[in-house]
Amino acid sequence: MRYYSLNNHDIKVSFKEAAITGIARDKGLYFPESIPQLDNDFIDNIENYSPAEIALKAISPFVGDEIPQDELKRIVAETLSFDFPVVKVEEGVYSLELFHGPTMAFKDVGARFMSRCLDYFTKGENKKITILVATSGDTGGAVASGFLGVEGIDVVILYPSGKVSPVQEMQLTAMGQNITALEVSGTFDDCQDMVKQAFLDEELMDVRLTSANSINIARWLPQMFYYFLAYKELKALGKPLAISVPSGNFGNICAGMMAKKIGLPIAHFIASTNANDTVPRFMKTQQYKPEATVETISNAMDVSNPSNFVRILELFGESLTAELTSYGFTDAETLQTIKKLYTENGYLADPHGAVGYLGLKKFLAENPGHAGVFLETAHPVKFPDSIEKTLGIGIPLPEQIKSVMEGNKKSVEISSYGELKDFLKEKHQPK
Ligand SMILES: *Cc1c(COP(=O)(O)O)cnc(C)c1O
Repeated sequence: MRYYSLNNHDIKVSFKEAAITGIARDKGLYFPESIPQLDNDFIDNIENYSPAEIALKAISPFVGDEIPQDELKRIVAETLSFDFPVVKVEEGVYSLELFHGPTMAFKDVGARFMSRCLDYFTKGENKKITILVATSGDTGGAVASGFLGVEGIDVVILYPSGKVSPVQEMQLTAMGQNITALEVSGTFDDCQDMVKQAFLDEELMDVRLTSANSINIARWLPQMFYYFLAYKELKALGKPLAISVPSGNFGNICAGMMAKKIGLPIAHFIASTNANDTVPRFMKTQQYKPEATVETISNAMDVSNPSNFVRILELFGESLTAELTSYGFTDAETLQTIKKLYTENGYLADPHGAVGYLGLKKFLAENPGHAGVFLETAHPVKFPDSIEKTLGIGIPLPEQIKSVMEGNKKSVEISSYGELKDFLKEKHQPK
């Protein structure tokens, strides 16, 4: 499979090059040059396949022969080495729990898949790749965990000081080895701007920078797996399926929409956002007007200019309104919902999952007859402030969090692009 730049369809590269470079030279996001089609027989009999078999079917055409099937099979199996339960919350409403991986957020799957692909592609090379990534919360931890100890790859994570939760902060600062955390005095958008500037900087060309945000196809595409797993679990209900995705940079929902495009029968997608509601406003007015990013309690979705939205437009263009509905919700509504889910449904949701539930319920109220799923994208323990204040309960630390919290925070404080540049140059002086 080849991938073109969304800025210029004549620029085409292999899966390998797209995964290693992250973004095209003209700064366009990569997009597959053709849309593969899964055979109906597989979809009709999906319940007979294991998660790893399903994932292999879905991803293979996107990788082509650039990774041999047996290697890809191993990569997929290692990527999915934990559970993805579908939990009934109330009649017709299900939670797809994506937080049972090592860092307890859904980004583990993309990060684990991408790290194994890069590991495969860089074996035997003697030049290091540096992953440079800005995080609003969960990306940093998932990338740190996914790439920890991978030879030939250094990871540099920028995060906004004081704006990530304590668990999130430890997950990205306490890893050591090939992982470095840069603590930026500023917002997530400042971090993202610095990363973008570094990718553009001619003087850093020698450093071989790549990204591990969802703009990277090797992190974006494996997120299709979730939608296949949800469909497999709920197919027997025999109802059209509506899936609500708590969305920030819109990588996850865009992967779901790609899954539909290659043949998965999902009836409708709901992009649920917090107060950063550029897309809900766009769907109403057809005007794309990002405003300044607002801080919310669902901090992993504090993104006002979602990178992946251009891919969604490429996928569905004019027919987008038939596929996608989008709603934004306030923090007050989110907290109220966390409380309602806990007291009335006995379900403990995190703020992101609660936003997903809100969007789903709103859609179902207007469009009865569907079965609904919302993605529960993070474990509530990652957001103890909202949970403890709202519900008055503490959440016991799961094992994988406990061990991280016992580590030592180590970060390098920076406040300008110049400092980032110096850091990257220094780090990559030939020894
Ligand atoms: C990253 C993240 C999101 C948003 O996902 P996108 O792919 O950026 O839209 C939602 N919830 C949690 C917990 C996240 O970490």
